[in-house]
Amino acid sequence: MFGHNPAFIKEALLNAIENGTSFGAPTELEVKMAQIITDLVSSIEKVRMVNSGTEATMSAIRAARGFSGKEKFIKFEGCYHGHADYFLIKAGSGALTLGVPTSPGVTNGNAADTLVADYNDIESVKKMIASNKNEIAAIIIEPIAGNMGVVKANDEFIKELKSICDEEKIVLIFDEVMTGFRVAAGGAQEVLGIAPDLTTFGKIIGGGLPVGAFGGKAEIMDIIAPSGPVYQAGTLSGNPLAMAAGYAALNHINENKEIYNELEEKSSYLEKGMKKNLNEIGKNYAMNRVGSMSCMFFKEGEVENFNDAVNSDTELYGKYFHEMLNQGIYLAPAQFEAMFISTAHSKVDLDKTLAAHKSSLEAIL
Ligand code: PLP
Repeated sequence: MFGHNPAFIKEALLNAIENGTSFGAPTELEVKMAQIITDLVSSIEKVRMVNSGTEATMSAIRAARGFSGKEKFIKFEGCYHGHADYFLIKAGSGALTLGVPTSPGVTNGNAADTLVADYNDIESVKKMIASNKNEIAAIIIEPIAGNMGVVKANDEFIKELKSICDEEKIVLIFDEVMTGFRVAAGGAQEVLGIAPDLTTFGKIIGGGLPVGAFGGKAEIMDIIAPSGPVYQAGTLSGNPLAMAAGYAALNHINENKEIYNELEEKSSYLEKGMKKNLNEIGKNYAMNRVGSMSCMFFKEGEVENFNDAVNSDTELYGKYFHEMLNQGIYLAPAQFEAMFISTAHSKVDLDKTLAAHKSSLEAIL
């Protein structure tokens, strides 16, 4: 988002070290952090700090289960929510069969409570809910997915998902670990115009240090101890160094909202340039972009879900990656990841990337 080590974060860290660090009851910085998150993201009434994105998503699932008294949850094929056992599950062979662990060490017991639906396919969600009536605590989704390449939830799908969750009393969780404060100050939910029940954050809110957070409706957050019975705690949660870096990042965003215009301009410049290159080369590869997140798939036509994404030519992506690296451009090392533009990227950087993009494609195709 900002590139490496911006001066305002270094300064905040040095201040925190000089002023001494203490653990325990919420520190002044932790309270300021909670305040700025609730100010920037309108669906969040209460928020709790943790240490990583994985802690945020697993705590949000626990809160939703505790709140609803139900155990199963739905996730979507192609979305990543961290490495808790019950997230490392992929769809079984048929849409309604049990999920399958994607890692040794994850038990079939874990898989039994995780249902895996198809991204941007509301019918797959409806079928799952119908065959697990009153058993589903939560639906968790990357509202703009960045872990199958970049794929945005389409407007109709996300609206229906929200209303189904409201009707069926299912807690809707937006995993904004990647999109939070990146695609807009109010995250993907601002871009899509949909307010989830709970939201999870990580990455940007740490300003480079390990931080995660989950928050949302007060009636759900109040289920967590000490106000409610659901256990959640962490020795290093809300620690002063992480809060200092995180608050400096969010405060900078809050005071400089025009950075999203700058990110949009730079990202759109890169997108247009890449599309022009593709056009000149005679390829119609899918280019998906939302704000500063973008991705070129080695697949002709649209990419709207996991199935489309996995039909990309990953071998060709590997060749492209190495060609780009030889020219000094270090992309994400897999087709199923996003490119992020930061405020540190200059026009010179973008032009160099576009020139490398064209010559790399010419070299490998
Ligand atoms: N959720 C999403 C959308 C992510 O992209 C990630 C990490 O990449 C996570 C959760 C897990 O976060 P962490 O790696 O901080 O545990």
